[in-house]
Amino acid sequence: MSKPLLGCIADDFTGGTDLASTLVRGGMRVVQVIGVPRDLNIADADAVVIALKTRTVEAAQAVKESLDALDWLEKAGCEQFFFKYCSTFDSTPEGNIGPVADALASALGVDFAIACPAFPENGRTIYKGYLYVGDVLLSESGMRNHPLTPMSDANLVRVLQSQTQAKVGAVHLGDVSRGAEAIVAKFEQLRQGDVKYAIVDAVSDADLCQIGRALMGHRLITGGSGVAMGLPANFRDAGKLSAPTSSAAKLPRVEGRSIVLSGSCSLATNAQVEAWKASSRPAFKLDPLELAKGDETILEAVEWATQQLESAPVLIYGSANPDEVKRAQRELGVEKAGSLMERALAQIAKTLVDGAEVRKVVVAGGETSGAVVKALDVKALRIGAPIDPGVPWTIGTAAVPLALALKSGNFGTEDFFEKALRCAP
Ligand code: ADP
Repeated sequence: MSKPLLGCIADDFTGGTDLASTLVRGGMRVVQVIGVPRDLNIADADAVVIALKTRTVEAAQAVKESLDALDWLEKAGCEQFFFKYCSTFDSTPEGNIGPVADALASALGVDFAIACPAFPENGRTIYKGYLYVGDVLLSESGMRNHPLTPMSDANLVRVLQSQTQAKVGAVHLGDVSRGAEAIVAKFEQLRQGDVKYAIVDAVSDADLCQIGRALMGHRLITGGSGVAMGLPANFRDAGKLSAPTSSAAKLPRVEGRSIVLSGSCSLATNAQVEAWKASSRPAFKLDPLELAKGDETILEAVEWATQQLESAPVLIYGSANPDEVKRAQRELGVEKAGSLMERALAQIAKTLVDGAEVRKVVVAGGETSGAVVKALDVKALRIGAPIDPGVPWTIGTAAVPLALALKSGNFGTEDFFEKALRCAP
């Protein structure tokens, strides 16, 4: 059995599948596991992605879980390590990007690593250290209203600097566009100036591929999935990875009913929920204030879905506009409003899989996906072809095989839910 080359630690579940999807597209065989596995038996894989749910937990907890994951990946024989976070740099002033990067760097004895969340295919570009979402700065995008990690500063050097004692610098597009060699030279210059983390500009896939090339031999990489685009070629050049094959993304068929669960309140997801309703498909809205009173609404949703599923797939959602989210958070607190909704959607998923022959589940929202996948006791995911950039169908290994599409809130076109169901395995 060959050893995996790349070991990845993702701070949420949709981030994990997004990264895995990029690596599969680059021709790597990828296994994604949910949480740190208990044993060391993984099938032949070129990369292993350990998906955690550490984006919004206490920093100390995120550090501990990430170090456990690193330990497992090192024992599995990986030679390069990737800390994957969101392409919108989702974090709070306390972390967790800085503290986790610090811990991983120190465990690996690394004095320099890049921080590059760029994902141009999905509109995330970095210019002079500032992150853009589409045509606007991160701080002017829908991310300013995120229920858990509102992002009010687009300057990533400043954002990361507030989360670490180590010095943060930047590699600007002028250097990136001159290619891998120029990027390597800039890395060296920054390292000489005691910079530990470099925010690296990228506005195109070509930039990301050059950055990827410049990362050959780096023990630790931190970033979004985009920067992983250039990594398979490094392993191929070193003779460690064979030529890409088209069968890497083929999934077996899954028979059963389909549901869509949405806990994301992002602009993109809210538009996807509206598009679903506009096409007169069945939809059930959950209100956190009702959920706080007891499990009545959950039972009601399950009963409604069980009936509807006789004839069509259903959507159950908590997704709401910023005013509604703020109202719920004022009454319940941010943490409680979020966890009530995550718990409800997770419980509904479990009940419908156990009792209503549901086998295909689309989930919108990173934290939400984490909660659903945990409730379904999914141990590992096999990654298929992308539905939209960054969102593949996957097959989950659980008590029964489940087809899962885990969508990061901001990803996907307006008709994403229908499109996903159309191309479900
Ligand atoms: P995204 O991928 O868009 O970041 P997440 O699932 O990670 O989505 O985060 C969204 C958070 O918002 C979750 O914790 C979810 O439970 C919470 N949430 C969903 N609906 C509501 C609501 N109506 N009011 C308050 N919080 C909500």
